[in-house]
Amino acid sequence: MDLGISGKRAIVCASSKGLGLGCARALAEAGVDLVMNARGADALRASAADIRDSFGVDVVEFVGDITDEGARAELLSTCADPDILVTNAGGPPPGLWSDWSREDFLKALDANMLTPIALMTAILPQMIDKGWGRVVNITSQSVKSPIPVLGLSNAARAGLTGYVAGTARQVAPQGVIINNLLPGIHDTDRADALDKGVAAEKGITQDQARANRASTIPARRYGTPAEFGATCAFMCSQHAGFMVGQNILLDGGAVNATL
Ligand code: NAP
Repeated sequence: MDLGISGKRAIVCASSKGLGLGCARALAEAGVDLVMNARGADALRASAADIRDSFGVDVVEFVGDITDEGARAELLSTCADPDILVTNAGGPPPGLWSDWSREDFLKALDANMLTPIALMTAILPQMIDKGWGRVVNITSQSVKSPIPVLGLSNAARAGLTGYVAGTARQVAPQGVIINNLLPGIHDTDRADALDKGVAAEKGITQDQARANRASTIPARRYGTPAEFGATCAFMCSQHAGFMVGQNILLDGGAVNATL
């Protein structure tokens, strides 16, 4: 399917690895020029080079912490007028409800709620002026079904989801389409780190921890960044213009719900 977005420009946050990289690759395959971002320069350089070689699109690398206000301003000065924005950042650490201080909550809110909101606030006006824009926020299945050890994530992402529900409907009349993409368990460094934590806590191997988690998913496997990226690219495409303020769950059936 031709996604109809060849020649557009996208900012893909937190995209040197994992789900962000999956989104960057799929957009590049559709002919979209990219600004890719991460804190670590080496992995970002390697991923950007691979995308340039594979798809022949322009890729600007921006090294910086997307949760930092100054870094965001610098990023926007390198690409002030994107057609597509994919927001993403690292997820908060696991723990117990009684572990977290106000500071921990503020950090999680900053990364997984206030950063995507700040990026949208900065970029939506230009999209509205052009009469076209696509925003995909990478959130989590925890929005639909809480993950008890990820209370910080549950809280911050619920806030972003509420914001998007209202804002998406305010900007849709001007051709700007905002949706959220909710990953279930995907095969990335983040999933490995969570498996490692469970293995250490339960005294089992990481492979056993992974097999245990995979067995809870009806698809009986972890999702791939490529599958995730393809869904993201569709949500950024011309064909997604009637999809407004939705929360698209990609979880192999893990959330046991009718709707
Ligand atoms: P990942 O494999 O750890 O990759 C994270 C990527 O984001 C890396 O490129 C990392 O590069 C970059 N990054 C992290 N923090 C950043 C920051 N503050 N500023 C700029 N770049 C940053 O993680 P993932 O699995 O793709 O997860 C992406 C998001 O989806 C996370 O919020 C995660 O909680 C959520 N999620 C993931 C899963 C899953 O199963 N994988 C499930 C549900 C939700 P640097 O470290 O070099 O900055």
